[in-house]
Amino acid sequence: MLVLVLGDLHIPHRCNTVPPKFKKLLVPGKIQHILCTGNLCSKESFDYLKTLASDVHIVKGDFDENLNYPEQKVVTVGQFRIGLCHGHQVVPWGDTESLAMLQRQLDVDILITGHTHKFEAFEHENKFYINPGSATGAYNALNRWALASCQSSVTCQLTIHLSIKNSTSSLSNNSPYVKRN
Ligand SMILES: [Zn+2]
Repeated sequence: MLVLVLGDLHIPHRCNTVPPKFKKLLVPGKIQHILCTGNLCSKESFDYLKTLASDVHIVKGDFDENLNYPEQKVVTVGQFRIGLCHGHQVVPWGDTESLAMLQRQLDVDILITGHTHKFEAFEHENKFYINPGSATGAYNALNRWALASCQSSVTCQLTIHLSIKNSTSSLSNNSPYVKRN
């Protein structure tokens, strides 16, 4: 099962489009769920994500004009409860203890947030935290998105795709996150 994690596209304010290099890799029909941390910011970006997978979850970023997106959302994938929140509400931004508070509040195994445009993936007290960074490299040159593959219903392996200027590469975290009860 493949889950695409991305956010902070900031189209069209900071960037015109999803990098073509990424579009080439993102083949429709391969991904089952899309979890987006918001700041798309356009309807075109949303329509593009819908062409990749039918199950698209988006939360509202501080620049999103679509007021119908929720502030936070919990999605179940396999045995994982995954929490999704843009992250500008978590103060200080990206702070581990503040994120852990939100994780407990939502009662999730994996918490995905964005807003800082800084890629993060770490385990804290047996919970997994992901920030996919910015898919279009808004505010800095590095574009990133993550593919989370769930090999079993309790293991989650992340593959990070990144691109800068004309080169793309991918890397995986060597120890997958395993949900323990
Ligand atoms: Zn933001």
